[in-house]
Amino acid sequence: MNKPVLLIVDDAPQVHAAVRRDLRSQYREQYTVMSAKSGQEALETARELKSRGDSLAMVISDQRMPGMLGNEVLARSREVYPLARRVLLTAYSDIEAAVKGINEAHLDHYLSKPWDPPEERLFPVIDDLLDAWQAESLPEATGLRLVGHQWSPRSHAIKNFLASSLIPYRWLDVARDPATRALLDAAGVAADELPALLFEDGFVLRNPEPRQVAERLGRSLSAAFDLYDLVIVGAGPAGLAAAVYGASEGLRTLLLDRHAPGGQAGSSARIENYLGFPAGVSGSELTRRALTQAQRLGAEVLAPLEVTGISIDAGHKRLTLTDGRELVTRTMLAATGMIYREHPATGVAEHTGAGVYYGAATTEAPAFAGRRVLVIGGGNSAGQGALHLARYAREVQIVVHRETLRETMSQYLIDQIEKTQNIRLRPRTEVDRVDGEGHVERVALRSLQDGACQVEEADALFVFIGTRPRTDWLPPDVLRDAKGFVLTGRDLIAADAYERVWKESREPLPLETSVAGVFAAGDVRAGAMNRVASAVGEGSMVVRLAHEYLALT
Ligand SMILES: Cc1cc2nc3c(=O)[nH]c(=O)nc-3n(C[C@H](O)[C@H](O)[C@H](O)COP(=O)(O)OP(=O)(O)OC[C@H]3O[C@@H](n4cnc5c(N)ncnc54)[C@H](O)[C@@H]3O)c2cc1C
Repeated sequence: MNKPVLLIVDDAPQVHAAVRRDLRSQYREQYTVMSAKSGQEALETARELKSRGDSLAMVISDQRMPGMLGNEVLARSREVYPLARRVLLTAYSDIEAAVKGINEAHLDHYLSKPWDPPEERLFPVIDDLLDAWQAESLPEATGLRLVGHQWSPRSHAIKNFLASSLIPYRWLDVARDPATRALLDAAGVAADELPALLFEDGFVLRNPEPRQVAERLGRSLSAAFDLYDLVIVGAGPAGLAAAVYGASEGLRTLLLDRHAPGGQAGSSARIENYLGFPAGVSGSELTRRALTQAQRLGAEVLAPLEVTGISIDAGHKRLTLTDGRELVTRTMLAATGMIYREHPATGVAEHTGAGVYYGAATTEAPAFAGRRVLVIGGGNSAGQGALHLARYAREVQIVVHRETLRETMSQYLIDQIEKTQNIRLRPRTEVDRVDGEGHVERVALRSLQDGACQVEEADALFVFIGTRPRTDWLPPDVLRDAKGFVLTGRDLIAADAYERVWKESREPLPLETSVAGVFAAGDVRAGAMNRVASAVGEGSMVVRLAHEYLALT
């Protein structure tokens, strides 16, 4: 296997030589540095690399070149190597081009010239982007392979688990790829044992649960200590932020998730409004960074592990896990967020995981290349999902009850959707029924204008309708509002049951629930803002408040 390539595109000999020199000095052990003097030459090089089966990790292009501007080179290189990182070299005066590149060419970073000293201004950026590229790419012949049927809910569950756990793997659909039969025969896997997970060392897991996969990958599922200062339930943005601050501020911190770190944000194809990421950041990339940070600072992370209940024992909180084990902690954070509501239409439940997916646009999108899919819902998550699916599917239809997306979706997403030719809006429409033999084949859509029902062919439905809080594991003493969201701080005082439930002589701290020392942050909390940034802010605040609580006890 040849080393992955870093491709420099610049027509100015001096700049070209400087980038080449700097990149070679730092990366030549692991990467081949190649160069092109024009956009045309760069695209030819990319196509040639592709035809040889080589990997392209990054394209770094100058903006100002005769013939083809850098932005166009980067946008077109994406068609050949969608995962390669794209960096634009600009002059300070060219920030406008960089912003345009972010919006249109989806570039990952722009670098202003000159970047001396490279140790401070070039290598950290390139290292970061190459780490992200490595986390997503896997050479053809090596690594973990998941073989199964596209329409099997268990295949979907394992794909989802591996993707959310940031474990690179290759998906092989037995129905589409005839070569998989030989692979399965060689591994001794029978048809009724699918999906099968084939490890590089020859080990095979047959029809595994996510938990077995985690164990085989060496993930510990047992807590290291008997007592913690802070246990965080839910590793979405709120939980991850609390883990970073808890561990860095000296609390013995444990973070648990029933699925894998990332939460709802982890399923987002592109978060464009999180501070500090001008080119946007995918949910999986943000999760990878946060998780690495939390673990480096000393937080313990266990997943998949579900908390099913808590009880209070002389101020200590006892958490019960699905496997019956218990954990004890002095303070606890409920950061279990929200989940999508199930779609009530006939046929949806039977086809869940077999063409009906909740969220999951990033995990399943490649499997729908060239097909026709429906996105149900008109919120921002539906918009992001539709845009991501449109990169693969032949046609994406967004099905919504309202006349337009204006009241439910941010304008920047509406603009991008309008510019995407293979996305179509189906206003004033609802899904009436889903049919198919073993997987989704047809959908009956009802017009809300005249009630007429029309049956259409569709390969999948990605459902992004309303959400509900995940609070069923909390005891009744943790008070909630009428919709089930957890009440905290001063909001508690107005609750009817407050006098009966609150046992302390002081008032609850901000973000503290009606059980002293149990906090709630992020989407699970009544009054939450439902944004990544606010969840991160609340999760970080809880650590200060946990210190305050511990000082009182
Ligand atoms: C597709 C999509 C795109 C989005 N895009 C944006 C965006 O661009 N910008 C933005 O600001 N916001 C966006 N949002 C909203 C944002 O992701 C949420 O507001 C944010 O993730 C809330 O974080 P959280 O930590 O409170 O909860 P969540 O992200 O919901 O995480 C909760 C975690 O708790 C775990 N959990 C639940 N119950 C248990 C249990 N009993 N035991 C153990 N673990 C449990 C879950 O597995 C989950 O990982 C998007 C949401 C979605 C779905």
